[in-house]
Amino acid sequence: MGVFVLGSINLDAVARVDDLPRPGETVAGLSLELFLGGKGANQAVAAARMGAPTRLMGAVGKDDSGASLKGKLAGYGVQVADVAELSGAPTGQAHVWVSNGGENMIVVTGGANMMITPQQVAATALEGQRVLLAQLETPAGAIEALFKAGAAKGGLRVLNAAPALPQGAALFPLTDILILNQTELATYARLDHEPAKLEEVSKAARKLMSRPDQTIIVTLGKTGVAAVRRDEAFLVEGRKVKAVDTVGAGDCFCGALAAGLAANLDLREAVEQANAAAALSVQKPGAAPSMPSKREVEVFLE
Ligand code: ADP
Repeated sequence: MGVFVLGSINLDAVARVDDLPRPGETVAGLSLELFLGGKGANQAVAAARMGAPTRLMGAVGKDDSGASLKGKLAGYGVQVADVAELSGAPTGQAHVWVSNGGENMIVVTGGANMMITPQQVAATALEGQRVLLAQLETPAGAIEALFKAGAAKGGLRVLNAAPALPQGAALFPLTDILILNQTELATYARLDHEPAKLEEVSKAARKLMSRPDQTIIVTLGKTGVAAVRRDEAFLVEGRKVKAVDTVGAGDCFCGALAAGLAANLDLREAVEQANAAAALSVQKPGAAPSMPSKREVEVFLE
């Protein structure tokens, strides 16, 4: 039934500035906003909003932001009993500076997210978890432990191998469904450009397949989503919407896809639903606050 997410939880601090500072320079910020972030948290919120019973495993520091982020996650309906509060590391943070010209600089400090151990994962009961979803903002050893333990219990292993990291590829053979965006596909497949056409995307994705029963899903921004299996590939076209903020679109897609699969939709139905959810999310600012509910997606698809 449920979706089990192993992933990062961050406090995102977003400062707007006229111009980005040069090294050694101090500039006055125009505004500062604090958000719940991290790919794990965002994807868990998306899955929960789509109606899936959703558990998030992760770690925050024993500090004010850790407690506040757990509270926010619970407010979105995510079960947070498996989010450890660690005294040895601070809650993860992303410091984002955005200039008036639209350029940005981002520093992510993983903090407690990087302290999740394979032992913490192995001690967790995974019965009844239909979908196991992970990204690469937590240690690869913990993801490996989850996928090994979860597969033995019949869970579908879904990896959003983002951000693109060399250690990510070692997890591909343990994965049932791999989700990448165009940039990540180009990095892992060692291409010098981002493939766009279905034929080119399929060819690159098949280079990454390590088992014949694997599915690779490639998100293509406003173009939509490609799903590639050994003997079939299809494109679900992007929905025509007016995008105001595409941050978190990929996370919305991953969480909504996991929710669809946990509700026993077939692959195409789950991709179509997640494509619609992500299109709704780009019409609102922010990541977690822009994740649509199941009802909103149903109305949009009518
Ligand atoms: P990421 O956020 O990882 O860069 P994408 O940009 O590929 O990922 O976006 C993920 C998904 O969000 C797309 O496959 C699509 O379903 C949806 N999406 C993104 N941008 C748009 C847009 N401008 N219009 C409609 N849907 C979009």
